[in-house]
Amino acid sequence: MRAFFLYLARRESFKNFALNFKFFRNTASRFIAGDTLDDAIQAVKQANRRGIMGTLDLLGENTLTQEDAHSAREELIQAQDRIDKERANCNLSIKLTQLGLNLNPVFCEQNLVRIAEHAKNLDNFVRVDMEDSSCTDRTLEIVERTYRNLGNVGTVIQAYLYRSERDAVALVEKGIRIRLVKGAYREPEEIAFRRKKDTDANYVKIMKRLLESGTYHAIATHDTSIIQTALEFVRTKKIPRNRFEFQMLYGIRRDMQQKLASEGYNVRVYIPYGARWYPYFMRRLAERPANVIFLLRNLLSERKINGKSHSDL
Ligand SMILES: Cc1cc2nc3c(=O)[nH]c(=O)nc-3n(C[C@H](O)[C@H](O)[C@H](O)COP(=O)(O)OP(=O)(O)OC[C@H]3O[C@@H](n4cnc5c(N)ncnc54)[C@H](O)[C@@H]3O)c2cc1C
Repeated sequence: MRAFFLYLARRESFKNFALNFKFFRNTASRFIAGDTLDDAIQAVKQANRRGIMGTLDLLGENTLTQEDAHSAREELIQAQDRIDKERANCNLSIKLTQLGLNLNPVFCEQNLVRIAEHAKNLDNFVRVDMEDSSCTDRTLEIVERTYRNLGNVGTVIQAYLYRSERDAVALVEKGIRIRLVKGAYREPEEIAFRRKKDTDANYVKIMKRLLESGTYHAIATHDTSIIQTALEFVRTKKIPRNRFEFQMLYGIRRDMQQKLASEGYNVRVYIPYGARWYPYFMRRLAERPANVIFLLRNLLSERKINGKSHSDL
């Protein structure tokens, strides 16, 4: 089922079909703060009130024209200004294909540099998300150069890739901040673990290296058993709570986000917003069969409501 939803995430024809249905959008709204920057800022403020930091994701990937990439850059700069104006505890997460990676890597890098410079002036940080494996090398190269020049960017390592431990070590040596995730794309078995237990084992192995590295990294997972392992590890190694953070996605395991924050751990929630939510939502469906059941329930309840309103008329 995971493979099926990740396949659909890339199909424009299914996207156009699915977007006609209100239940589809209603279900997506569990994972997305809203269509506008106002919606996103409101979600950040709510999180901040609960002692949780935010990272905003302006939805959009695989931008098809330089004009669109340019508009995304300007929207992201606006978002930074708004975060600053509202004094929100929040930074940005950015996908390089939104800034034109697949159109022209030099143009994409210029866009990232512009955003990172702006963030630096505002004393803020930029996280570069990791996309599918066709982007890995280019993303790491661009992040490393931008980090060398500006210092306020970090990136993401996906534990399902065989190469990731090596990449993580190289980034750690340079002092670059890492968000460690399991990985959300469909990758061939020549380059990625297929079995969850292998990905989990690699995650834990890399996580321990990051936690001991002395650099401030992010442990991004909702996996209770991995979070427990992290907590035991930092306790044993006497790693202070302010030397790393946990990250989770908007709408997922809110209880655990709150529990960790109230125990004094740094917690950040990843808050997506904007109209281009389709591929993000499909990846969330792929991760958990229960989300598909939730989607189907919404379909049934919409049918019931429609049925009722017809009979009421
Ligand atoms: C802050 C953050 C940023 C991320 N950035 C990236 C990125 O840049 N690149 C990338 O490839 N991936 C990214 N991801 C996604 C990541 O790769 C995983 O796909 C996702 O986090 C699910 O894996 P998991 O670690 O939670 O573990 P899993 O083993 O998948 O899940 C563990 C438990 O978490 C809960 N859970 C997990 N997913 C869902 C869901 N969709 N809906 C409801 N419950 C769920 C369930 O209780 C599940 O049993 C990010 C994840 C987070 C938290």
